[in-house]
Amino acid sequence: MIDLFDKIKSKPGPLEMWHDKAEGYYMFPELEGEIGSHMYFQGKEVLCWSLNNYLGLANHPEVRKADAEAAAKYGMAYPMGARVMSGQTKWHKQLEQELANFSHKQYGCLINYGYQGIMSTIDCLLDRHDVVVYDADCHASIIDGIRMSPADKYKFRHNDVADAEKRIAIACKLAEQKGGGVLVITEGVFGMRGMQGKVKGLADLKKKYTFRLLIDDAHGFGTQGEDGGGTHVEQGCADEVDVYCATFAKSMASTGGFIATNDKAIITHIRYNMRSQIYAKSMPLVNVMGGLKRLELIRNHPEFRTKLWENVRMLQNGLRERGFDIGDLTSCVTPVYMKGSLEEATQVVADMRENYRIFCSIVIPPVIPAGNILLRLIPTNYHTKEDIEYTLNAFAEVRDKLANHQYVTDRVADVQLDK
Ligand code: PMP
Repeated sequence: MIDLFDKIKSKPGPLEMWHDKAEGYYMFPELEGEIGSHMYFQGKEVLCWSLNNYLGLANHPEVRKADAEAAAKYGMAYPMGARVMSGQTKWHKQLEQELANFSHKQYGCLINYGYQGIMSTIDCLLDRHDVVVYDADCHASIIDGIRMSPADKYKFRHNDVADAEKRIAIACKLAEQKGGGVLVITEGVFGMRGMQGKVKGLADLKKKYTFRLLIDDAHGFGTQGEDGGGTHVEQGCADEVDVYCATFAKSMASTGGFIATNDKAIITHIRYNMRSQIYAKSMPLVNVMGGLKRLELIRNHPEFRTKLWENVRMLQNGLRERGFDIGDLTSCVTPVYMKGSLEEATQVVADMRENYRIFCSIVIPPVIPAGNILLRLIPTNYHTKEDIEYTLNAFAEVRDKLANHQYVTDRVADVQLDK
């Protein structure tokens, strides 16, 4: 019999297999300094395009003050225990109510992390009689919730409403036979490629089929919709989304998240059955108090969002004008697609970081097809026009070097890995 650890060592995972070539540089890089557009990587200043701090709240002085005051007053422990046992406070209740209202829903429930909470929500909404239909590009938190569930599963092609309809029709028949219901899942904004999900298109199918619609709007909360209420608000179908999920990891610049719905019995079901909350310690009050302050700022400062979108448009238009393929974007997330080998992709990143001092994230195969390079830029409201101009020019130069095969012949930079 093989030793378990020997077996694991002989089969590294898809990211792990690169660890000796990537650790500390391409993967697990350490960004230092104040969160913002200019940070430090390996001791050198870089222009940072990697953080989902869309509205700049991470270092807003009022946010920092609220976080610090809550930490000083309550510490990180309070309240102890799960909310159901001993971890309830009036502020938890207030924050989830305010979050629900902001996202055009009536009832909310906090989750300690977006990933665990979304996974666990899906788990607690479905049993073996039900059927779930979901977009092929959904985030791991959705995929893993579906994987955990004993429900039957159907995946539709990314953002293809016609394909979704076919699966929903099959799902409805199957659910009827099994005596269960149907849950359809998509994202508000797909965080890797920046397209909005077809929330309205799917919601319209409710006129023909009986199902409930859940969206994960991690990137849309605070950024999409006239009031920042989310992608479902922007697409004019807020009421048709039955379960709305978002994380604090992006616009809220914190840790945690929430689920919201208009159905009181469903939020009660979630509160009493969601295993990631029932069997886990309550969200620390620091996150809750900090969350209240962040939401207050998002509500009272629409100009944060206006500035964000000015920057998004300047960056995306500038890339298009320079002939870049950035896809058909309807969100802040800005992917830049280029052609090249994996070796070239690593050289592009090294050139960007070492010579142009630009820090952005890279997505490599198998996440995208072989022969492609995807560099992802996340504009925020605090990037300046100069930051954007500089980045556009750098991207144009890098693209020319790639086209001239310079990254195959020249060694652009030495990278320093953690060994
Ligand atoms: N959903 C989406 C679409 C995400 O991008 C993320 C990553 N932040 C999550 C869920 C998980 O959220 P968290 O980081 O709060 O666990």
